[in-house]
Amino acid sequence: MKVIDHILKTSEPTFSCEVVPSFLDKSEKILFETIQTLKLEDPKWINVMTYSSRTLYRNKTENSEEKIIGKNHLYALEICGAIQNRLKIDAVAHILCRGYTREETKDALIKLHGIGINNILALRGDGLDDESSNTEVQHINHYAADLVKQVHDFKMERSTNKNSNPQTLDFCIGVAGYPEKHFEASSLDQDIHYLKQKIQSGAEYVVTQMFFNNEKYFSFVQSCRSAGIKVPIVPGIKLVKSYDQAKKLSKNFHFSLPPNLAEELFANQSHASEIGLNWTVKQCEELLQKGVPGLHFYVMNDAPQIVKIVKKLRG
Ligand code: FAD
Repeated sequence: MKVIDHILKTSEPTFSCEVVPSFLDKSEKILFETIQTLKLEDPKWINVMTYSSRTLYRNKTENSEEKIIGKNHLYALEICGAIQNRLKIDAVAHILCRGYTREETKDALIKLHGIGINNILALRGDGLDDESSNTEVQHINHYAADLVKQVHDFKMERSTNKNSNPQTLDFCIGVAGYPEKHFEASSLDQDIHYLKQKIQSGAEYVVTQMFFNNEKYFSFVQSCRSAGIKVPIVPGIKLVKSYDQAKKLSKNFHFSLPPNLAEELFANQSHASEIGLNWTVKQCEELLQKGVPGLHFYVMNDAPQIVKIVKKLRG
């Protein structure tokens, strides 16, 4: 089922998650344990993060360990296939501009179609664009809106070809939004202007970057509506478990940490997990009361705590 249908056709706000696959030993086992734990609360969909650069990973055979440089997205697609087909949860594959040519993106779309996935989150990605810098300009997507357009055009091209089945390539496209603006944008208004381009290019919903101050989200949604963005905007939620982690996340993901949360975490470091959990419950309660379309959790290693939070919210 498409994410947009989950959002629009379910009477309750949706519960969804993002997981991060890694090539490291044992990580696959841990990842699937994480997803099995999340499954207890019936997530409507699970996003699988991917990286923009080539990633080093280890392939362990019986007698040796081989180091391989591989493209992370192929591995992420495999994980998506397992979530979709083995665990029977709708998987959302992240596809990126950075690190991938348009041809590689087209291949990824065909692979996704082959493994029964019709949900994607289209992103620009970060980091050095080392490979695409050697690639002719027409072979790369620069911004997420270009990527959305490529996916949308590919879908339309296939649907007008009478030899292909249009249903099968009917991707539902989501994009990222930033309640506290993307760090490169000169203003929130400018960022929202480009967010609108992503929607006009064919995206059907937005998932936000993590935030801890609900007012930032409400005001962002209002500005989006004033700018003519009508699609659902699903808030991205992250649980924090220590003062240091909260500070690091706020620096890396460019959001403001509410001073009262920072102070409480700092002053009660031995109870920081409990403080973080209570904060997330309160934050989610307010979001739900004000009618958000769903809650999207950035899970990392926190599946048991996320399940506890969702249970609590559901009463
Ligand atoms: P864009 O929408 O392309 O915007 C990037 C910047 O360019 C913004 O400042 C925007 O205002 C500006 N801009 C847009 N269009 C134009 C234009 N035409 N001209 C000038 N400026 C323009 N990263 C990963 O590597 N892997 C992941 O799996 C991943 N998952 C994510 C999931 C979510 C929900 C979110 C919120 C982020 C995720 N990211 C991921 C991070 C994301 O790749 C970065 O935040 C990246 O810097 C921007 O991506 P974007 O898709 O928002 O880019």
